[in-house]
Amino acid sequence: MDDDINAYLSSGAIFNKISDITRVVDPLRKRVIEHKNKEVSMDGIHCFDFWGKNKVCDNCISMRAYNDNTTYVKIEYSEDKTYMITAVPHDLSDRRVVIEIIKDITSSMFFGSAENAGIEQAGVHALIDNLNRLAFSDPLTGMYNRRYIIEKLPVDLLNAVLLSKEMSIIMVDIDFFKAVNDNYGHLAGDQVLKKVAETLSDSMKRGSDWIARYGGEEFLVCMPGAGLETAKATAEYMRKSLEKSVIQFDGKEFSITASFGVYCIKSTGGEKVEDLLKHADEKLYLAKRNGRNRIEY
Ligand code: GH3
Ligand code: MG
Ligand code: MG
Repeated sequence: MDDDINAYLSSGAIFNKISDITRVVDPLRKRVIEHKNKEVSMDGIHCFDFWGKNKVCDNCISMRAYNDNTTYVKIEYSEDKTYMITAVPHDLSDRRVVIEIIKDITSSMFFGSAENAGIEQAGVHALIDNLNRLAFSDPLTGMYNRRYIIEKLPVDLLNAVLLSKEMSIIMVDIDFFKAVNDNYGHLAGDQVLKKVAETLSDSMKRGSDWIARYGGEEFLVCMPGAGLETAKATAEYMRKSLEKSVIQFDGKEFSITASFGVYCIKSTGGEKVEDLLKHADEKLYLAKRNGRNRIEY
C-alpha cells in the first residue's frame, strides 16, 4: 500500500472521522464506564440514557458483542439524530467490556440509492424501529425470541442480585402439542401457538414482566421482583386461562393445556442464567411426569 496511506491509517486519524463519541460500557450493568466526547458528560450514567428512551434497549448490540465476543453494528436514533453504533468487545485482565463507537449519521446516511437520500426523518426512525424489532421478535407469535432471552435474562438476574430483589421465571410447555399437528395439521398447530402466546401475554399483569418464545412450543416468562408465591399465582392463572380457551380452526373446535415449571432465584446470588433455566426446566418436566396441565415449583 502507498506509504502515505499506510502512515495515515496507522496514525489513527481516520478513527476521528468515523467516531463522534467513543465510550466504554458494561453491558450487564448497563453503565458507561468511560467516554471520550467533548460536549456530553456520560460518566456513571446508564448507557441507554443517551437514547432518551428511559429504558433498556430491546435490541442491545453491546450485550450481543459481549456474549459472542464479536463486533456488531446497528443504527439507532435519539429525538432528533440518527447514529451508527459499532460495538467492539474488549477483554480487560479481569472482565470483558464493550467499546461503543458512535457516529452521527443524520445527514450522511444513504439507503442504497441517492433517491433515498431525502427520506423523511420519521420514515428513517420507523425503519430503524422495524429492523430492531425483527432482531428480537419471533415471527410467528410476535413475542420476544430466544435471542432476547439470552440477552435480557442475564441483565435482569444481575439487577436482582445487586439490588437484593427477588426474581422468578416460569417455563411453559404445551401438552401433547405434536398430536395437534398430527390431528389437525401444522397450520392449526401454528394457530395454537399464536393463541397460547396471546393468552399467556394477557395473563401478565406486572409492567416489569416479559415473555418470550423459548423454542418450538415452549415459552419463558420472566418476573423481576416477583417471589415464588406471586410467580405461582401467575402460572396458575395462565394454566386456567389456557384450559378455558377454545381454539377454532377450519370449522373445528378444540382446546389444549400446558404444563408449568416455576423457579424463584436464591437471594444469596451466585446463580447463573443456565442454572435458572435448568431449575425451571426440571420443574417443568416434573409437571409433565405428574400428569401435565399443572404447575410445579
Ligand atoms: P409433551 O406433552 O410431552 O410436551 O408432548 P408434546 O407433543 O407437546 O412434545 P413433543 O416434543 O413430542 O412435540 C413438540 C412438537 O412441536 C413437535 C414439533 O413438530 C412441534 N412444533 C415445534 N415448533 C412448531 C411450530 O412452529 N409450528 C408447529 N405447527 N409445530 C411446531
Ligand atoms: Mg417441548
Ligand atoms: Mg409439549
